[in-house]
Amino acid sequence: MVKPFVPQLVYVEPRALEYAKGRELIKKFEGMGIEIRRTTSHNQIRNLPGENDFQKYRVAKSTLVVGVRKTLKFDTSKPSAEYAIPFATGCMGHCHYCYLQTTMGSKPYIRTYVNTDEIFAAAEEYMKERAPEPTRFEASCTSDIVGVDHLTHTLKDAIEYFGKSEYGKLRFVTKFEHVDHLLDAKHNGRTRFRFSINDDYVIKYFEPGTSKLKDRIKAAVKIAEAGYPLGFIVAPIYLHEGWKDGYEEMFKHLKKALPSHAVRDLTFELIQHRFTKPAKRVIEKNYPMSKLELEESKRKWKWGRYGIGKYVYQNEEQEDMKDTLGGYIDKYFPYARLEYFT
Ligand code: SF4
Repeated sequence: MVKPFVPQLVYVEPRALEYAKGRELIKKFEGMGIEIRRTTSHNQIRNLPGENDFQKYRVAKSTLVVGVRKTLKFDTSKPSAEYAIPFATGCMGHCHYCYLQTTMGSKPYIRTYVNTDEIFAAAEEYMKERAPEPTRFEASCTSDIVGVDHLTHTLKDAIEYFGKSEYGKLRFVTKFEHVDHLLDAKHNGRTRFRFSINDDYVIKYFEPGTSKLKDRIKAAVKIAEAGYPLGFIVAPIYLHEGWKDGYEEMFKHLKKALPSHAVRDLTFELIQHRFTKPAKRVIEKNYPMSKLELEESKRKWKWGRYGIGKYVYQNEEQEDMKDTLGGYIDKYFPYARLEYFT
């Protein structure tokens, strides 16, 4: 079991204290004996403890900023949802290939936003535009929000908010097992709770600081028993020696653990490993000992969003992944829906 996240250091932006949630959180962190510093804005955070970039990076990953979300324009979030809903950014995990490595750049600390009512009001506007079509909101585009939610309960509020909503649906994904406080949330079946899973090799070598597969699966069983629609994202699918056996073991384990009612409404999303050139540079800097294979010549180049190209697997390898993992899904979870492979 991985211990629930506790920040080493907390920063608070003054405007956050204008919100009840901001005041509550600061009181909680004071009670926990955590050092709290004021900052006019998270952009002003410069003097994190640590003697070099390597140490500062690690301190930043365990620093929490309590702030206010100013931009209430949501990004789109294809293919899993219509919009990304911003409750937090950053993550305490240390997955070598994490896309946040490049998107968060030199500011990898975790930020939690306390103006949730304003964020919900913005979501309401997006829902109105599409009604009566449902609108799906993805809450984990810029963080692993479950990893911090045992402290903030923002996600819990969001689950209950969407539980009452007519057209909105919530979804998110996590690599953490700390779900107990979410079990009694009134979700009304409107939140799809997904776990990101991988085979033991990938979790062991590339996902330090996150929960082990068996603990994620135990948490998934609790979530299924609490009646949430459940899903799994297998990501990133990574080719290594023995990958076919590794992934089959993972599906077998899942099949054995899940209650039969959960497998009737189950979704899978499959995402192959990819990297960009800037990501490769950051990974080599932050995790210099990583075994992660980042050899451009072995991969296929693909144009990505915002004109940034990425390296994906070759076509035949992609076909092999799709057939192999798709085959396991058919074999072990014949009622499940494979939403996409990308
Ligand atoms: Fe990134 Fe997810 Fe790992 Fe956090 S748990 S470091 S968000 S991949």
